[in-house]
Amino acid sequence: MIAEEPARLRVHTRRVFGGDGELTSINEVYCHRRRACVTVETCEACPEHAGSVVDLAHERNFVSCRELTTERARSVEPTRRTVLRRRFCASATSGEHTPLSEIMTADVFCVRADLSTAALAQLLVGRQLGGVPVVDEAGRAIGVVSSADLVRLPAAGQVAEIMTRLVFTLPDNASVSQAAALMALEHVHRIPVVADDDRVVGIVSSSDVLAWLARADGYVIGRR
Ligand code: SF4
Repeated sequence: MIAEEPARLRVHTRRVFGGDGELTSINEVYCHRRRACVTVETCEACPEHAGSVVDLAHERNFVSCRELTTERARSVEPTRRTVLRRRFCASATSGEHTPLSEIMTADVFCVRADLSTAALAQLLVGRQLGGVPVVDEAGRAIGVVSSADLVRLPAAGQVAEIMTRLVFTLPDNASVSQAAALMALEHVHRIPVVADDDRVVGIVSSSDVLAWLARADGYVIGRR
């Protein structure tokens, strides 16, 4: 009987800005058994870990997992396993060829972590915003805070107490499809758009993506 081959799981990196503006990178894999992302260190300490693989040609890292064999991997629903990995698609939509710079809000409101929640509420209501990026003193994204955060923790005094610190960012030349994939994968509704130095240059929301999709199919949607 031929032993089943362990599946290779792609390592992905999440870059997070802390409150002090420092960028930290977290290398993780999606663990099918735990149904959660785990750090590579955690994965390597697991009894099911069968080795690590570096694909120099494609600059990709993988871990091998005995729990998830290649055969089983084929039948696993592709939801969380596809970290912005695309299968071959002969007829890519125009979303794949449309950069975020065309649909993002370039006149973007940002807040600092020490802003009062009262002032934040005033900004969100006054400007009819669902949420804004939180930036450090250099204008780099350190979080996102939304009106839902205000409702969730009404007694909080400062933005730092309610903001989401794990920020997903995209460059402005990322595609609309990539933004849609990240939103669907991570269940986020808005993503800060950043320059090479990570300063916020815009924000793209799920509403922007939906409006673009409707316009691409001929529907007349006014711009806000
Ligand atoms: S080796 Fe362990 S922690 Fe890593 S993916 Fe497999 S079951 Fe999960």
